[in-house]
Amino acid sequence: MVRGWLLRLLRNNTTFTVRYEFEYTRHESVSELSAEDAALVALAFEAAERAYAPHSGFGVGAAVRLVSGRMEWATNQESEVFPSGMCAERVLLYGCQTRLSEEPIEVIAVASADGAGECPPCGACRQVLLDTERRQGRPIRVLMCSRTTITEVPSAACLLPFGFELPSEAELKK
Ligand SMILES: [Zn+2]
Repeated sequence: MVRGWLLRLLRNNTTFTVRYEFEYTRHESVSELSAEDAALVALAFEAAERAYAPHSGFGVGAAVRLVSGRMEWATNQESEVFPSGMCAERVLLYGCQTRLSEEPIEVIAVASADGAGECPPCGACRQVLLDTERRQGRPIRVLMCSRTTITEVPSAACLLPFGFELPSEAELKK
């Protein structure tokens, strides 16, 4: 679900321009969040303190709340072989997919240990968020947090227009 809308501006018979838009919410303080979301954000910051990020020094925590209200968290993990590390969001999403795949994710909060700036997911994590959202058939709200402000998008799809999707078997047979 993308709460955006498309505006087609016809140029000629075959070429047109499409404007992609979506709405997001900017919270100027954690106190503007619901108690449940505030607890999730606090958990993401707690998680960030436990990150394993000796190379970058940039600890990140991610926390999800499932539809049951259960919360799970994870941190980024770095490796001696640099590309083998992984972001907190993907560590968390893969863990949830492994152990809790029957229960949809309602919302994810992402925060860095220093909390100086909001912490938007990288491109790879956006794709995996989108994969997860498609698989569970319902949107995942994303809370990108600093210590003071939070930007909230209503669906991971908002963060990745033109996300990759494997063609279905039917499409491959065409
Ligand atoms: Zn990432």
